[in-house]
Amino acid sequence: MKLAILGTGYVGIVTGTCFADLGNDVICVDNNEEKIKQLNSGIIPIYEPGLEELIKKNRQNERLSFSSDNKEAVRKSDIIFICVGTPPRNDGSADLTGIEKVSRDIAESMDSYKLVVEKSTVPVETGERLKDAIKRNMKNDVEFDVASNPEFLREGSAIEDFNSPDRIVIGVESKKAEKILCELYEPLNAKIVVTNIKGAEIIKHAANSFLATKISFINAVSNICEKVGTDINAVAEGVGLDPRINSRFLKAGIGFGGSCFPKDLQAFIRISERLGYSFDLLKEVEKINEMQRALVVKKVSDMLWNLPDKIIAVWGLAFKPNTDDIRSAPAIDIIKRLVAEGAKIRVFDPVAMENAKSELGDQIIYCQDAYEAVEGADCVVLMTEWNEFKELDWQKVKDIMKQPIILDGRNIYDPDKLKGLGFKYTGIGRQ
Ligand code: NAD
Repeated sequence: MKLAILGTGYVGIVTGTCFADLGNDVICVDNNEEKIKQLNSGIIPIYEPGLEELIKKNRQNERLSFSSDNKEAVRKSDIIFICVGTPPRNDGSADLTGIEKVSRDIAESMDSYKLVVEKSTVPVETGERLKDAIKRNMKNDVEFDVASNPEFLREGSAIEDFNSPDRIVIGVESKKAEKILCELYEPLNAKIVVTNIKGAEIIKHAANSFLATKISFINAVSNICEKVGTDINAVAEGVGLDPRINSRFLKAGIGFGGSCFPKDLQAFIRISERLGYSFDLLKEVEKINEMQRALVVKKVSDMLWNLPDKIIAVWGLAFKPNTDDIRSAPAIDIIKRLVAEGAKIRVFDPVAMENAKSELGDQIIYCQDAYEAVEGADCVVLMTEWNEFKELDWQKVKDIMKQPIILDGRNIYDPDKLKGLGFKYTGIGRQ
């Protein structure tokens, strides 16, 4: 099939490349010309395991190309995937101006039947608006369908998630659109849930909000564990082994972040409000998440007494391991708060440092590895559980720190082992 991917960010680039790998002809488009120039010269603008090789292979096979011309890509394609960003506006609702912009490009260049698919995460009823906008701006009287096909890939394992999805959700209004999308996804042999467009739009917001709720729930429980002096990890294990609950997303820590959960949660709260329902449960989920970030700052200052001029090492900046994405990462927010309190920060992240520089600038010190970060530090905070932070030479860490104090923001270390080595250890919801 001939596909155009409008918006070549984390989602667009992975989706486009993987569809090309399945044998489709794919044009990935972005209005950021610099990004397209990079991609055309073999430079991959994001870190995603396995992506570089897959792009190279599919460009060589001439199934994948990059362009900055939305209209030409639409003319050359049968299925158009909209993958532009839908960032939060100041009030938390989704900013859909990117979607509207590409809808105009699509409408103005459609010269034969097109299936226009929303892949970006959007509030319910966006599909209707998209259809109206295309109808209003169409230059040629051609048939088209709008469909919703929300994306569930996780950064860091995006290619694997594309190829082995738990489910594919398709929201359609016509049998023709359903048939095309089912055929497109057929090689993946995955469970396909077919519903209407509004249903598919709600599935994405509901799924992300539910996962965020699980995280906030266990973080709330971790506060109780901390008060009575028991370990949240054991509690979470005991709770999560019930298959009706399951242990995924049931890990206490510094809270959720990233480009999806915080934004989608807010957008779901706002669209619910617009529709006349106050989603108070989700407001509380947000509040708990915010409290976890404040808790980290409190814990650090409790351990160090006064923060001005204290040297705090930070391991990890990305919102989770295996990605360079720092959008709404708890680490970035917490670092800003610590800096505002007068602390001096030394950081190391295996791949997210370049992105972090644009957010944090030169107010912190960027280090070459986990050991350099702790040189002369009064305390170290683990923010992102990259594998390389799991196996460290603790004696070396202790020797180069000014004080052996550790805040394990992801509860990955063995408290007894570290205490035995002479560290002052604290985690989240455990001693
Ligand atoms: P992103 O910011 O990485 O990528 C969006 C891209 O669209 C950018 O490269 C931008 O330059 C481009 N763009 C903007 N306007 C354009 C236009 N008019 N024409 C062509 N290109 C344009 O965002 P992302 O992380 O890929 O997310 C895209 C959407 O997918 C969002 O709605 C997001 O919520 C959703 N989503 C993201 C993830 C994820 O893990 N990142 C997962 C599932 C769903």
